[in-house]
Amino acid sequence: MPHASASETSASEMGGSGVQEVDVAVVGAGFAGLYLLHRLRRAGFTAVALESADDVGGTWYWNRYPGARCDIQTTDYSYTFDPELESAWKWSEKYATQPEILRYLGFVADRYDLRRDIRFGTQVATATWDEAAHRWLLTTSNGAPVCCRTYIMASGCLSSPKPPEIEGVDDFKGEIYFTGRWPREEVKLAGKRVAIIGTGSSGIQVIPMIAEQAAHTTVFQRTPNFAFPAHNGPSPVDRVALLEKDRNDYREQARWSLAGVPLARATEFSWQLSEAERRDRFEKALAAGDLVVMLTQLWADQGVEVEGNALAADLIRERIRSIVKDPETADALTPHDHPFGSKRPCLETNYYTTYNQPNVTLVNLRQEPIKSITASGIKTDRRTFDVDVIVFATGFDAMTGAITAVHPITGRGGKSMSDAWAGGPQTYLGLTVDGFPNLFMVTGPGSPSVLSNMVVSIEQHADWVVDRLIAMREAGFTAIEATETAQAGWARHMADCSALTLHRLANTWYTGANVPGKAQGVMPYTGGVGPYRAICNEVVSRGLLGFKLTGPNPSTGSGQAVAEQCNDGEIVRLQPDVRLVLNMLADMNLPPLESFGAEGARDFVAQFNATRPAGRPVGEVLDGMLDGAEGPLPYRLYRPATGGDGEGGPHPIVVYFHGGGWVLGDAQSDDPFCRDMCRRTGMIFVSVGYRHAPEHRFPTAAEDGYAALRWIAEHAAELGGRPGPLLVAGWSAGGNIAAVTCQLARDRGGPPIAGQLLVCPVTDCTFDRPSYNENATGYFLTRSLMYWFWDLYCSPADRTDSRVSPLRGKLSGLPPAFVATCEFDPLRDEGIAYAEALAAAGVPVEQLQARGHFHSSFTMVDVVLTGVDGRVKMAEALRRFAGQGLQEAMPRAAE
Ligand code: NAP
Repeated sequence: MPHASASETSASEMGGSGVQEVDVAVVGAGFAGLYLLHRLRRAGFTAVALESADDVGGTWYWNRYPGARCDIQTTDYSYTFDPELESAWKWSEKYATQPEILRYLGFVADRYDLRRDIRFGTQVATATWDEAAHRWLLTTSNGAPVCCRTYIMASGCLSSPKPPEIEGVDDFKGEIYFTGRWPREEVKLAGKRVAIIGTGSSGIQVIPMIAEQAAHTTVFQRTPNFAFPAHNGPSPVDRVALLEKDRNDYREQARWSLAGVPLARATEFSWQLSEAERRDRFEKALAAGDLVVMLTQLWADQGVEVEGNALAADLIRERIRSIVKDPETADALTPHDHPFGSKRPCLETNYYTTYNQPNVTLVNLRQEPIKSITASGIKTDRRTFDVDVIVFATGFDAMTGAITAVHPITGRGGKSMSDAWAGGPQTYLGLTVDGFPNLFMVTGPGSPSVLSNMVVSIEQHADWVVDRLIAMREAGFTAIEATETAQAGWARHMADCSALTLHRLANTWYTGANVPGKAQGVMPYTGGVGPYRAICNEVVSRGLLGFKLTGPNPSTGSGQAVAEQCNDGEIVRLQPDVRLVLNMLADMNLPPLESFGAEGARDFVAQFNATRPAGRPVGEVLDGMLDGAEGPLPYRLYRPATGGDGEGGPHPIVVYFHGGGWVLGDAQSDDPFCRDMCRRTGMIFVSVGYRHAPEHRFPTAAEDGYAALRWIAEHAAELGGRPGPLLVAGWSAGGNIAAVTCQLARDRGGPPIAGQLLVCPVTDCTFDRPSYNENATGYFLTRSLMYWFWDLYCSPADRTDSRVSPLRGKLSGLPPAFVATCEFDPLRDEGIAYAEALAAAGVPVEQLQARGHFHSSFTMVDVVLTGVDGRVKMAEALRRFAGQGLQEAMPRAAE
């Protein structure tokens, strides 16, 4: 009997004061609360879990509506902390039913004897931080208050059901049920007329089950959802075999995966696959009956680009239309208002076929909204539906509801959590909140939580929190709190991550849009489970970066005073994809590029580039030869598919110089960048194969650059170019050549240049600007590599010549410029200095100082997706320079 054991425990721990004193209080006895209790107890902490239900289970206690099942395969939707537990429990199905999951959680509670530390039927009424004592005081709805050092909300992300928000609910004389609060006793629907409002995951699961029993089922749908078959049955043999082959490895892979299931994202982009190949992949994913497979295995751009996403969405739509017989109903069930995956998709069993039953009606609320609920049923603005039962499958005040809407939480200095989150949840790591010491949230907003296999995320959070509590106990600290800087940095990182996804393009409970008046913004962390785990680990390895730790308050006389520790800072300052690329490079532990010698470095770069995604298609790519300063030079021309002044041209020409420190690189190395910019600008890009050092030292590259410009100007018409001034662009050392070429053209009588695009350019020969020190190592282009490039290209005596240090040249009278620099680039400050000097000399200049980016961010097209915005701005600038309007052809990555 849960109640009996809980009251025995509390009586013995109250010490006569009427307050239950424990080290840790946990809210909730679901997956998270149970595992926390187990870990806390093993670590020697006293703990109590406060649970409003009368048994364990959390979500799986409350959501007992017919058809409720998990939709992550049971091979993965299980605790992994104890191998013996794993072998002691066998799931009967691929997707277990709610009763089976509830039995599992009961089994776990019994196996580890957890019920004796759970106070069932007890809600926290208020939670208040006592700054003097460094403790939380919780009042409860039932029994003694609790005084604890640490307060952990393990209250679930989807546990606070949303009120119906429909007028007249109280007038209804029939039965009302909420899927999220389904009664324990059997609900008899046979022979009844049942209305169901809501077609999210709960609705999609419950509707076919209700339609099997009810005399008539009427579904009220506001937004159709993407759903595909679960193919439930026994767990697939291949998945089980994979798990059993090496359980530890399987679980470890899941912990470092994107979504908490050991599946890596597809690497091929939709545009690299034929239509037949795409369909084949879709059919295989459909046959797998697995959300994570469908969301990650089709093609690399399905979750990040609208175009790639639309291809997947179309295939799902096609399937819906092929099942539902009535075309109007099929049309209403087909989602069009959000990208696939931006709203939680669902697995279905007989969902679409249910609408072929004669006793099932779909009411499209987009065409006839509900006006009110009446005594006898539901009234839309066109019709009245008399029913005996209304089922609300209308969802939850997700992620924040279970934290703020349930009880007032008062932190340091009387700060209220509801006030702190009035503009949306603010957290550090989705685990802690500035101003609320010793308060932790398991799978809180700002962590992968609902975008992951919850069990994996729960175990990670519980382990992280308990490990911190152990370390604090050992060091004598009694309070831990996130700093303001860390929290603000996390908000920026969250926004950077979500800019990479399509979640922000849909109104969903992920963004708070389902609750009227709720602040909006993507609440879960979208950067993936593995990267998130790495960040949490890094916070620890960097001395609890972003946390302030304090010891007991000496004035209270309790405990020994311990020095304060505050390691303030932001854990992630890089763009999320830049961080992944740099981590990958660091893991490769490559020798410095300069150690290969010039030939070896060229080979290495060529091999490295061969592993990149192929560039995107353009109208035409052709190689040719032009006249350089001392003989022929190769060039590669990229022609847009359409556009220009007339259909197919002529197009403005951009003379482009590749990067590579005057030593490395060629048309191939900057091929994806040229293709991308050609597509975005609708302009011809001519990538010039200038000669390299050390074979050809200064001023060869500069003179080749200028000669190429002249030749291209003279042959513009033959190349299909628009008559008139050219544009010039370059990246890195190519940016240097571009800048120099503009100066030479001004001084040598042309040809005229309409504008210059300088991307992370080398502009000066000194190495004493701060970015050379701040970013000396760790960001791919290193200071020592730059030293090497300079040494190979240019002797010290020549370095102040404006043909290699354009910053030292005359700057007036140059064409308008767009100068892009990256925060984590040794060349950042000289690029900014050049832009400022140009502006001071009266040249129209636009600057892009790209936060969180590194030297290669813009040229690693389709790898560093956060570079897209910068390239969009570059393309817009080039078009302005050429006197053209904005190009509509290319979307941004995530629009
Ligand atoms: P939900 O996804 O928020 O769906 C609620 C549905 O009710 C939506 O169709 C919504 O329409 C509709 N609705 C809400 N208020 C309404 C109103 N006033 N009038 C008319 N329609 C209204 O909620 P859910 O289905 O309970 O699922 C929530 C989440 O729980 C899921 O996304 C999933 O993460 C989890 N879940 C998982 C499973 C599983 O298989 N393991 C099962 C159930 C739930 P709009 O879309 O237009 O707002």
